[in-house]
Amino acid sequence: MTRKIIPIVSAGSEEIGLYEASRKIYPRTVRGMFARWRWAMVFLTQLLFYGLPWVEWGGRQMVLFDLAARRFYIFGLVLYPQDLIYLSGLLVVSALSLFLFTAVAGRLWCGYACPQTVYTEIFMWVEHKIEGNRTARIRLDKESMSVEKLVKKWFKHIVWIGIAMWTGFTFVGYFTPVRELGLAFLQTQTGSWEMFWVFFYGFATYGNAGFMREQVCKYMCPYARFQSAMFDRDTLIVTYDPQRGEPHAPRRKGPDPRSLGLGDCIDCGLCVEVCPTGIDIRKGLQYECIGCGLCVDACDTVMQKMAYPPGLIRYDTQNGMEAGWSRRQLLHRVLRPRVLVYTAVLTLLVAGLLASLVARTPFKVDVVRDRASLARIAEGGRLENVYRLQIMNATEKPQHYRITADGLEGLSVSPDEPVVVDAAQSRWVAVRLQVPYGAVSAGSHTVHFAIREEGGGAQVSEKAAFLVPR
Ligand code: SF4
Ligand code: SF4
Repeated sequence: MTRKIIPIVSAGSEEIGLYEASRKIYPRTVRGMFARWRWAMVFLTQLLFYGLPWVEWGGRQMVLFDLAARRFYIFGLVLYPQDLIYLSGLLVVSALSLFLFTAVAGRLWCGYACPQTVYTEIFMWVEHKIEGNRTARIRLDKESMSVEKLVKKWFKHIVWIGIAMWTGFTFVGYFTPVRELGLAFLQTQTGSWEMFWVFFYGFATYGNAGFMREQVCKYMCPYARFQSAMFDRDTLIVTYDPQRGEPHAPRRKGPDPRSLGLGDCIDCGLCVEVCPTGIDIRKGLQYECIGCGLCVDACDTVMQKMAYPPGLIRYDTQNGMEAGWSRRQLLHRVLRPRVLVYTAVLTLLVAGLLASLVARTPFKVDVVRDRASLARIAEGGRLENVYRLQIMNATEKPQHYRITADGLEGLSVSPDEPVVVDAAQSRWVAVRLQVPYGAVSAGSHTVHFAIREEGGGAQVSEKAAFLVPR
């Protein structure tokens, strides 16, 4: 494979390029423990991602961020926009978890769970099944166009587009009820925004996993760039052991490499061929390395064939590699100050989030003044202010709420009978507050609404202003 360099300056006989055209990578399939872990994560993440929107909970979609209804359902939780603090908390917990995992074990997320990794793995599997192994794929790409090549390429792209569209559909199914979305698609009645986002995410999946692949990790993902701030010399990373491997050179199986003055690396290049980002880990830690461990699997296979001990490429730390630490010593270093601080902050945050979720009132109330009539004289000569209360039931059962108010002499509330709000629904209620005319001085007075859940005992208080004209 030739590299195309665009030269910008010439320094003597040397050309220095600013831009290097990317070369297509044909990763070789590899078997081993880390490859199995990667596939286990593909199955697990995709089972959750594709399956969750179809699971029902008490007659509704179990996980649904219903944007149109401005309500989020997560298992038994019903969250309203006022509960955004919990979602923000969840994001902070996710970010901190990422920091913690990265400090302990490098780019575990990138190598095993990132959607870019997972979909690239799925798309490469499809490619392998249709176009064949690495050698066959390289040959096919070099061949001039033929019926066989055309059929294989078309078939591959059709399968890719199918997966990508299903992914886009599933993604949108987290934001609009998936069954209704499916039905609407079958009847070609979808609203334009759903259609747009299904195609948008489908197209993004097709492009990123089918064409961009490792370029997304190398050039687009910010995480690869700031991860170095989270690494230290005790972070587990995929490393090549140069003390053991060098000097590398090809050889036959049999003689002890030390007697030949060689290291254990036989320079087979397998670790480079299996690498999804196409790098040579023997050159040291590089930002392109997503920590997938496939080169570990490949090299261990080679070591086994050569009857050398495994682990020439392995998960290790920089300190551990240099000092030749045992697994026990490595694990001992895991509990270092940075990790302990991340863990403590994370534990506190999770505990705080859970405690506030448990203690949260099972309904919310918004009070809005009726701007059409600020104050008026009602029947019976009483002075009346009208408000609109939005009561949001965050439980899975219909609830009765009683509305009272205090803060002014002789204050009465209408309606005085309980208000019913259906399960996980919200309802606007017009509430009238009255005081005897002349009993309260002119101006704005603070009153407090108390909304009580009948039977449950939960109560919400809201402040409002009662206006008395001059
Ligand atoms: S797979 Fe192992 S032996 Fe082969 S080139 Fe890579 S490090 Fe050397
Ligand atoms: S160098 Fe090894 S661990 Fe890093 S991306 Fe390549 S195969 Fe994966």
